[in-house]
Amino acid sequence: MSKTDDIYFCGIDIGSSATKIVLLNCQGDILDMEAIQQGVGGDNEEEIMQCLRSRHPEICTGELVRVSTGYGRLRCKEAMFQKSEITCHAKGVTHLIPDVRTIIDIGGQDSKVIRVSGKGNIEEFVMNDKCAAGTGRFLDVMSHVLGVALSDMGGADAEADRIVKISNTCTVFAESEVISYLSQNEKVENVIAGIHSSVASKAASLAKRVSVTDKVVLTGGVAQNKGIVRALSEELKRKIIVPQIPQFTGALGAAIYAYEKFYEKSDL
Ligand code: ADP
Repeated sequence: MSKTDDIYFCGIDIGSSATKIVLLNCQGDILDMEAIQQGVGGDNEEEIMQCLRSRHPEICTGELVRVSTGYGRLRCKEAMFQKSEITCHAKGVTHLIPDVRTIIDIGGQDSKVIRVSGKGNIEEFVMNDKCAAGTGRFLDVMSHVLGVALSDMGGADAEADRIVKISNTCTVFAESEVISYLSQNEKVENVIAGIHSSVASKAASLAKRVSVTDKVVLTGGVAQNKGIVRALSEELKRKIIVPQIPQFTGALGAAIYAYEKFYEKSDL
């Protein structure tokens, strides 16, 4: 197979809470990306593809090489192969930030920390997929209870004049604690800062299990929340870097695997 102009590489990340697709052109450059804030189940992947096809009609006639990742990666029947989230996140992040050493990913239903070597190889990783505390799910529940949109939580955190202590680790009990603060007329912003500190403290504990080394990069949908970035930076006493496309790094990694595998096959 020779290098052609009408071949495209598609990384499909089917997460528990969101489906993300990154599209690369034949040179391996990012052509486009799109997400739906719904994970496994439904026809989210096809909906995103329709959206990408409408923006790039050229992909309808070209060849599309797909690699899937994420919790629901086995659902993608058209994928050339599937890759684990850990390897795809590491691939995507090291592509964007080559000297990263610690990747903290906070997704919808789990959080993970990956330590990478100076050469971009995975040295160690840990994962919390047992408990909603410290994941996007915890924030989703709290956003609902407070009536504050997820996209506004970071801005509200910046308006806090104190950070309340959320003592309960269990999401259900923490929800009652939050309601109790509100009933005592605590400022919503202070409660939000407390919620962010609670999530950050869980992520920091996980990170310390693999020993945190600079540069530290935060990814996953939750990384869009500036309050979480602030709180994590305070917990780890380090600068936290957030890539421009934090929710897409797994999909980007999968797309790069598609690109690399294709050209390896064609001996280019
Ligand atoms: P997964 O791969 O497990 O599906 P993601 O990395 O896509 O998870 O992250 C999903 C989480 O991102 C959601 O649970 C939600 O808490 C958070 N999120 C999504 N959009 C936003 C936003 N605009 N601002 C802050 N957080 C967000």
